[in-house]
Amino acid sequence: MKFDTVVLATRNPHKAEELRAMLSGLPLTVKDLRDFPDCPEVEEDGRTLEDNAWKKASVAHSCTGLPAIADDTGLEVYYLLDAPGVYSARYAGEDATYEDNNRKLLNELRQIPARKRQARFRCIVALVHGQNEQLFEGSVEGNILFSPRGTNGFGYDPLFRPENFTQSYAELDEEKKNAISHRGRAMKKLISFLKD
Ligand code: IMP
Repeated sequence: MKFDTVVLATRNPHKAEELRAMLSGLPLTVKDLRDFPDCPEVEEDGRTLEDNAWKKASVAHSCTGLPAIADDTGLEVYYLLDAPGVYSARYAGEDATYEDNNRKLLNELRQIPARKRQARFRCIVALVHGQNEQLFEGSVEGNILFSPRGTNGFGYDPLFRPENFTQSYAELDEEKKNAISHRGRAMKKLISFLKD
């Protein structure tokens, strides 16, 4: 193991707990930015997921002195030329809710048949420590449904049916989703790196 402590570059309790659960098999103390209230908020204004993940991890590393882990995710819908992509959180506007974003997505795809509704979730996890940085990518192919299904998860989960599944992400329980998800796949690569 390369480190004994890392910081997750997030204050979002849902995300922190999800990432913490994925790292739980490692002999690591895992902190997050709620432990460092003086660290600045980072504007996610990068043009790519890679830019944003790197920026969040770099700021967290500079301000805590610890190896820092950040992730950034986008939903890429092929018919929409990979939109909403890096703008997934604010697809329907700056203060958009998950419901607003889902409504907009359904609207953009109205009358588009199932075979043209392919999409993928793509997640970049960045690790910044000292002068080093590593990026790990995980993605999951799937389809955008015609209406929301399921109540688990968050974001676009009710509209995304992963390839080879009949359920939407929001119909899978948390453990199952984490085992197959874009974030789970990127985190598995990070974990192999940390174990090496
Ligand atoms: P973030 O980079 O993890 O903050 O994700 C940006 C946006 O992508 C979120 O606001 C969600 O709308 C969406 N998103 C990220 N991860 C997921 C997921 O696992 N399921 C559904 N939507 C997600």
